[in-house]
Amino acid sequence: MASLDSFKQCRICRRMFQYPGFGAEVCQACRKEDEEMFSKVKTYLRDNPGRTIHQTAKDCDVPESRIRDWLKEERLEYTGSGETGLFCEHCGKPIMSGKLCDECRMSFAKAAGEMKRSIEKPAPERKQIAHDGDKMRFLGRRQ
Ligand SMILES: [Zn+2]
Ligand SMILES: [Zn+2]
Repeated sequence: MASLDSFKQCRICRRMFQYPGFGAEVCQACRKEDEEMFSKVKTYLRDNPGRTIHQTAKDCDVPESRIRDWLKEERLEYTGSGETGLFCEHCGKPIMSGKLCDECRMSFAKAAGEMKRSIEKPAPERKQIAHDGDKMRFLGRRQ
């Protein structure tokens, strides 16, 4: 017997469904439909390169917003011409997929890399925990 906790509202059709505990909060019927639409669009774009989002949506009978979702999630790669209607969440530049333009993505990656490096720098209390002799020497050299 499933407890009430395992029920969630499908984010597409808004019906309650039994949530398996992982993955997107989408019911089975919608998930199946989503997958069918997705593969249709994917095949369409492969066979018809250069189509706009609008044309693709019309020819595949799929909402434009859904195609944008897939691009945002980077499930779909758009190689067509024209604008996708997606914009960089940071600078607002039109983009083809994902949430950031290449420049912002790069500068964020750089910033994340720098952040990671500073996190990796041994904190004083970590040195005390590190009893291993080799590790102690290694940590010491890096400072
Ligand atoms: Zn649903
Ligand atoms: Zn940007």
